[in-house]
Amino acid sequence: MAYFVGRGYSDGFTAHMAALLEALGPDTPVRLTVGTDAVCAACPNDLGGVCRTADRVVGYDRAVLDLCGLEDGETLAFGRFTALVQNRVLALGLRPGVCGNCQWNAICSVQPSRWG
Ligand code: SF4
Repeated sequence: MAYFVGRGYSDGFTAHMAALLEALGPDTPVRLTVGTDAVCAACPNDLGGVCRTADRVVGYDRAVLDLCGLEDGETLAFGRFTALVQNRVLALGLRPGVCGNCQWNAICSVQPSRWG
């Protein structure tokens, strides 16, 4: 989300992601999950609630939760979540160690974080 520039797994996915970023304000409560979520809802890789690449993305999610001191299932304000991700992961240059083997890594490597 921090580096989204309108590209993704399908037109439906990118439209949904853009709408989600628009809808999520700093005070919007969000519940964290290492499973499929609101972002996945329009993704062609969401196979009935299970990600086609779950083995990899669950590792990404757990790494972010650990670095931020958060837990699976926790609910917090979206702004608090993005601040933690920005300050404890992205600003410290830790993102490549979390998800550097993702197919979109080249895009995220050259964009500024929208939360910076
Ligand atoms: S975690 Fe899987 S289902 Fe969710 S957006 Fe990423 S690729 Fe799609």
